Amino acid sequence: MQTDTYRHKGMRRALVKQLRDKGIRDARVLAAIETVPRHFFFDKAFLEQAYQDKAFPIGEGQTISQPYTVAFQSELLRLRPTDKVLEIGTGSGYQCTVLLQITPNVYTIEYNRPLYEKARLFFRKHNLKPHTFHGDGSQGLPAYAPYDKIIVTAGAPIVPKELLRQLSIGGILVIPVGDEKLQKMLRITRVEENEFTKEEFSDFKFVPLLGRSGWSGAE
Ligand code: SAM
Repeated sequence: MQTDTYRHKGMRRALVKQLRDKGIRDARVLAAIETVPRHFFFDKAFLEQAYQDKAFPIGEGQTISQPYTVAFQSELLRLRPTDKVLEIGTGSGYQCTVLLQITPNVYTIEYNRPLYEKARLFFRKHNLKPHTFHGDGSQGLPAYAPYDKIIVTAGAPIVPKELLRQLSIGGILVIPVGDEKLQKMLRITRVEENEFTKEEFSDFKFVPLLGRSGWSGAE
């Protein structure tokens, strides 16, 4: 059984200070990161890495995102406790667990079967209750749409139209878009049924979004 000691809590406080120093301001996001034991998502051999502001391999060629990236994307979402959120790319389940500290209504979809199974077990073990799905999240999750917020945690070649369609009016999509090496973080807001605004932020480096509107489907 993993434990969350004063030492871990201290390391989290130090991490949150770093994130604040790097410009993260959303109090809900900072509190969520201070609450979630990131070391629970790491194998014992790598516990020391858990509170560094770095991405880390989680197997299957995938990564747990850097804490700054998790904080930055979460802040861009302008999360509220009543939001229904869709996360694309469950991975380790860390970002999802951060989201769950802010709203109980989180849907998350993962393409890689072993990672999906592992995350599901993790959620069950820790009594967390996101709605988990296995499948191609580049098409969103139309059965449960609309969503107030959609977060994509893998780098996309384009903004998938399906995701725009699944946003509620006033809803926000945060998605890194670019080539396979570097992506620009975008925030797209659905202002009206057929009106969207787009804001561009800095560059990030994500593992590729796969699937129909991802790298395996795009030309
Ligand atoms: N949010 C994760 C976390 O907190 O650990 C990090 C995600 S990792 C950077 C990107 C994830 O997106 C990988 O687990 C990958 O398998 C998944 N992925 C890639 N393409 C996908 C798709 N089309 N649908 C759903 N998940 C996808």
